[in-house]
Amino acid sequence: MINLSLKELSDSLKEKKFSSVELTQFFLDRLDLYNSSINAFISFDKDKSLAMARNADAMIQEGRQNYLTGIPIAQKDIFCAEGWKTSCGSRMLDNFIAPYDATVISKFNEVGAVNLGKTNMDEFAMGSSNETSFYGNVKNPWDIKAVPGGSSGGSAAAVAGMLAPAATATDTGGSIRQPASLCGLTGLKPTYGLVSRYGMIAFASSLDQAGPMCHTAEDCAAMLNVMTGHDPKDSTSVQREKENYLKGIHDPIKGLKIGIPKEFFSEGLEPEIEKIIEQGIDEYKKLGAEIVEISLPNNHLSIPVYYVIAPAEASSNLSRYDGVRYGYRTKEYDDLMDMYCKTREEGFGNEVKRRIMIGTYVLSAGYYDAYYLKAQKIRRLISEDFKKAFEKCDVILGPSAPSVAFPIGDKKEDPLKMYMQDVYTISTNLAGLPGLSMPAGLMNNLPVGMQLIGNYFSEAKLLNIANIFQTNTDWHNLSPKGFE
Ligand code: GLN
Repeated sequence: MINLSLKELSDSLKEKKFSSVELTQFFLDRLDLYNSSINAFISFDKDKSLAMARNADAMIQEGRQNYLTGIPIAQKDIFCAEGWKTSCGSRMLDNFIAPYDATVISKFNEVGAVNLGKTNMDEFAMGSSNETSFYGNVKNPWDIKAVPGGSSGGSAAAVAGMLAPAATATDTGGSIRQPASLCGLTGLKPTYGLVSRYGMIAFASSLDQAGPMCHTAEDCAAMLNVMTGHDPKDSTSVQREKENYLKGIHDPIKGLKIGIPKEFFSEGLEPEIEKIIEQGIDEYKKLGAEIVEISLPNNHLSIPVYYVIAPAEASSNLSRYDGVRYGYRTKEYDDLMDMYCKTREEGFGNEVKRRIMIGTYVLSAGYYDAYYLKAQKIRRLISEDFKKAFEKCDVILGPSAPSVAFPIGDKKEDPLKMYMQDVYTISTNLAGLPGLSMPAGLMNNLPVGMQLIGNYFSEAKLLNIANIFQTNTDWHNLSPKGFE
């Protein structure tokens, strides 16, 4: 069961080679065996998962099987799931049992997928290494001493360690693509608005987007088929016809124009990663693609702009955690103000506090124009760069992250170094574009990710282009030793 794609799992369930209960039990057993060493899950509930599996078996029996019916999926702990603890990696929500389902969760429930458990993550999705989680850091199955990336590091470690066949994740500045890159997986951040944010705990609302994290592009397509769709409960959810992302996944890519942004190959990128990406480009040339050079002249401003806009939105979103309605409340306090202060002091970790302070500052009356407004203007320039680039090419290719998985503790004390992890991913969030990372090689036995960035709503094309690469290469089939 361990090496089967979602399609193979689905077919096996259909042919009754095993039941969903058996499949779910298999992964729960692996969870028992390995979770303590990698800390990929914050919580799981075997009884609930097995009940869902029994329900799925009944659906299959009745001939109501969908692609993901009966398949266990690990859910990032940022998604509210009714009756499940939903912590977002924070002490603030350590006691929070979600009273309703996020739209993403209800969509998986509708097709009869099994919730395998809630995965570890950086606190409120702020981080690139999973070291800001209240529940301790996640370890990378490829190297237990290294980080899995973040903020969706638990989802990445769960799939890489084969504790789950697939997982959900979210990406505000790179949190799907960077951990996918560091853990040897395929991860897709969709166009902003394609997947509903309802019930997905908010970090920076104009950037947050949920997507799948799997071994292959084909698996991601199957997951995305479930996750997308207009949702009246999210005012930024787009109204467009639902696509079948599996439909064109094998289409030939001859004549495809791939743009290579020169800014993605400058200082800061490990030379060996550069070489691996160049080999990826060569592979695409062999497959009939045409390579064109493009420029994203404002990319160097994307990290500074993000670290104004994201904290600004976070400071506003996180004001709801005041100890009054739900979540953590300090034990002893003198008056209401004291209760607020102590609750937030004790409930939030350092990185979250840093962001709240920066965000509050850039939104304050005296500094709003100088920081927040300025950042919004540059955000527009960054989007314009992509618009111009897509006049010359169909898709943009580059590295996903500047490094491979780094040692736990390596960048924890230096936020600026940590923030650089997203130097190739953040601009797509600022522009609202889709981006995909897939494994393209190994450096020091650690996975290297290659990124594809597409125009708005080009997910089907991105998955097709990635799938063609994967049908001609083997990088996505490698797995970490000790987890086979
Ligand atoms: N690493 C970035 C941050 O810390 C992005 C996180 C994300 O995409 N959720 O904000």
